[in-house]
Amino acid sequence: MDEVAVYSIPLTTRFRGITTREGLLFRGPAGWGEFCPFPEYDDREAATWLAAAREAAFDGWPEPRRDSVPVNCIVPAVAPSTAADMVRASGCATAKVKVADHPGSAGEDRERVAAVRDALGPSGFVRVDANTAWDVDTAVREIRALDAAAGGLQYVEQPCAALEELAAVRRRVDVRIAADEVIRRAVDPLAVPVADAADVAILKCLPLGGVRRALRVAEAVGLPCVVSSALESSVGLAAEIALAAALPELDYACGLGTGRLFTTDVVAEDERLIPRDGALPVLRTAPEPVRRAEVAAGPDRAAWWRERLERLTER
Ligand SMILES: [Mg+2]
Repeated sequence: MDEVAVYSIPLTTRFRGITTREGLLFRGPAGWGEFCPFPEYDDREAATWLAAAREAAFDGWPEPRRDSVPVNCIVPAVAPSTAADMVRASGCATAKVKVADHPGSAGEDRERVAAVRDALGPSGFVRVDANTAWDVDTAVREIRALDAAAGGLQYVEQPCAALEELAAVRRRVDVRIAADEVIRRAVDPLAVPVADAADVAILKCLPLGGVRRALRVAEAVGLPCVVSSALESSVGLAAEIALAAALPELDYACGLGTGRLFTTDVVAEDERLIPRDGALPVLRTAPEPVRRAEVAAGPDRAAWWRERLERLTER
């Protein structure tokens, strides 16, 4: 394997509007790091992803406090019967259901959430993510309906875009609010006043600039944290897991089961970071990528990623 590799891997299902995930892997003295900001992100936002990749490659990660991390099953905007099958196949006790995927999705969302509850049973946990889709009134109405359909929601992730909107929704519903985009995409994630706006904070290691920086964000927000993936290959997932392993408290299952959304991976099949029995193992370094033509990006995309890396390295 060369010291730098660009991958391009089809997803099993459309997720976050994309069907293929790309990223660049590089090796340093401490191991492999993954640089995979989404293509539309500007250099300012991409720079923190590079810091996370450098931490993995050059510094390694802080001491873990646990040796495995419980994860949730991910349910994209699929039909109710597919959703139920995904939950049963996952072995997870917690399911995160994507809602508000497109205009007019309310009826489908409720059916999907009800099917997920059926599949999980009464002791499982159902959480939903609206990815900032709603205004305050819509959020209040949909959260109440989904909470009823699910027989109780664990939390709703980022129902609206703005911090003040989250606070307004939080005053009007009994369901916990989780802050994601409002922290991750802030100019300074260490200075987002989330106390009145959320009950739970979603942290992503790569977008926040690495395990150490994300731990500082966790301390600054002062809320229970859930570590969630940014749709990385198993190399980047290992860094997300390292963050979950290093958090002082971990009260909720993490959103790190996204390896299943990849049709294949950059590492050997038996080293893929795919949850077993609802949990992922904590590794001290990322698993070693293996050279495989089927995951290598074409020359144009590889050149695009190398140029992006060079541009950011020169900043
Ligand atoms: Mg989210």
